[in-house]
Amino acid sequence: MTLDQVLLRDDHDLSTAIWAATAIAAPPTPSLAGNVRADVAIVGGGYTGLSAALHLAERGTKAVVLEAKEPGWGASGRNFGQVIAGLKLDPDAMDAHFGREIGTVVRNLSGGAPDYLFDIVRRYAIDCDANQSGWIQPAHARIGLRQVESRAAQWSKHGVKVALLDRARTAELVGAEGYLGAWLDPRGGGVQPLSLARGLARAAIGLGVAVHGDTRVVRIVRQGTDWRLTAANGATVTAANVILATNAYSDDLWPGLRRSIVPVRPFLVASAPLGENARRNIFPHGHVGSDTKRMLSYFRVERTGRLLMGGRGSVGHGRGAGIYEQLREDTRRILPWLGEVKWEYAWSGWIAFTKDHLPHLHELAPGVHAGLGYQGRGIAMALVMGRELARRATERKVEGGWPIVRLQPLALHALRKPVLHGIRAYWRLRDKLDAR
Ligand SMILES: Cc1cc2nc3c(=O)[nH]c(=O)nc-3n(C[C@H](O)[C@H](O)[C@H](O)COP(=O)(O)OP(=O)(O)OC[C@H]3O[C@@H](n4cnc5c(N)ncnc54)[C@H](O)[C@@H]3O)c2cc1C
Repeated sequence: MTLDQVLLRDDHDLSTAIWAATAIAAPPTPSLAGNVRADVAIVGGGYTGLSAALHLAERGTKAVVLEAKEPGWGASGRNFGQVIAGLKLDPDAMDAHFGREIGTVVRNLSGGAPDYLFDIVRRYAIDCDANQSGWIQPAHARIGLRQVESRAAQWSKHGVKVALLDRARTAELVGAEGYLGAWLDPRGGGVQPLSLARGLARAAIGLGVAVHGDTRVVRIVRQGTDWRLTAANGATVTAANVILATNAYSDDLWPGLRRSIVPVRPFLVASAPLGENARRNIFPHGHVGSDTKRMLSYFRVERTGRLLMGGRGSVGHGRGAGIYEQLREDTRRILPWLGEVKWEYAWSGWIAFTKDHLPHLHELAPGVHAGLGYQGRGIAMALVMGRELARRATERKVEGGWPIVRLQPLALHALRKPVLHGIRAYWRLRDKLDAR
């Protein structure tokens, strides 16, 4: 199938992602039937929900995962696969936002998130091309260079063995000439995202978690001291605790949750396998990376030698043909030496932004918690959030946990599309001006 034929299909379909073609097999996840009891009911079978389930099962707590489609169907199975440490906020900004004590907790949890992920992958022998090879952030302009220098200095102050790369070394490690320099964060790396999600589901099932696909939860009601969750097919789960792990795919299941985030839709394309020369030159040491632009670009070569190019998100549901064309143009601009590239896969998915650019953990009611809002860098952070949600659900007093914030539906949420279109046009202009 040509790329243009792919674009005519529904690109919310997971099967148009390269990952669907190369992932490990999915474990059986039959839909929920009858009326089930559990200690914790988890809604959403992405990294957040599956990590929560795994953590609970490791401690002997009976967990049930209810996923509308299949494990990894949301952002978790279709992302770019670059594992990044930390948050959008740098360590000094974390301290300024939270104060020193909670800032330290947030820095340690988010900075340690890749180690947590790669450790789980090792412990459960998940076959997902995991490679903690390091994440490179190349600077597109002088302003970006100042940012990476400051970011590297801040993490270095906290013991991370970062490296600053000059222009020539950046070109060598990235395969592109146009960057002014970069920082290399050794904590990051790459994964096959759908294999990771399926591997987490298989590990959870192996520990006794019931993972149900094809099970959309349509209602949650209080029943005495328990919660009763009803699926679209009428089956129910009754549990003392509920974890909502629906992130950017949140619907109106819990009042206000969907409106507390702004969903944005990045697009990705994958080429036909590249020739030897190209594979030897683009990230030759297996790093992954994304640049410093406001409308950032990211690219990598995955296991079968295909170039992945991503960025240019949208806020609408359209097919995005224009955006895919821009991604092809980005490739010509960033990697001009590659020549014409044959593109074979194109897909997109939803990520969740929050107003303060921080992941949010909410206690929505006694026994009901939600974790979401990773700003497009949630592979590692969602795994940590899952553990944090599991701790909140089961521990009487959580020491050193991710801070809980009040659920705040965004004012003017209905106007987010025109507002974001404006912001994005402005960012694109600023990126162009900065790079001159
Ligand atoms: C195109 C793209 C590229 C990205 N690239 C990167 C990257 O390179 N690095 C990085 O760190 N992050 C990246 N991300 C972000 C990362 O994938 C997410 O932050 C992470 O996967 C979030 O996991 P999650 O489990 O919270 O949510 P999701 O994986 O989105 O899972 C939510 C699940 O909830 C289910 N659901 C929703 N409502 C219901 C309901 N009522 N009943 C039952 N189930 C329900 C959905 O079907 C969905 O499967 C990217 C995301 C996208 C879309």
